Amino acid sequence: MTRLTMLKEVLKSLFSKPSTEPLAEVEKGVFSPYSRGCPVLIPEKCTGCSLCAMNCPSNAITMKIVGEKNVGGKTLPVRRPEFNYFKCIYCGLCAQVCQFNAIEMRRDLVILRPRSKC
Ligand code: SF4
Ligand code: SF4
Repeated sequence: MTRLTMLKEVLKSLFSKPSTEPLAEVEKGVFSPYSRGCPVLIPEKCTGCSLCAMNCPSNAITMKIVGEKNVGGKTLPVRRPEFNYFKCIYCGLCAQVCQFNAIEMRRDLVILRPRSKC
């Protein structure tokens, strides 16, 4: 790219509209009744076994240390899953593999989505 072409591109982008959508262009929506819903942790049921994180196909679960517990005189970390909803494909596998029913797939949550242009 020559300097002149580059200068043209810079000037063009200075006076063109941004390609991203402003926040005002999003609206509230709900999950479709045909979807599996959104994984939500029930912390008091979770044992921190990591089975959900190991089975997530999109690597959307990270085990985070949220505290410490004393077991037989030893201090051990308490781990809980954290969901990355931008990576999640809402397949429900984590809820299926959890042996303690500590993950609930919920459809009643409000989500933000781009406003429809139609
Ligand atoms: S949510 Fe279930 S599978 Fe995941 S760490 Fe907790 S107990 Fe284990
Ligand atoms: S719903 Fe599927 S993609 Fe989302 S966190 Fe659970 S296993 Fe991973």
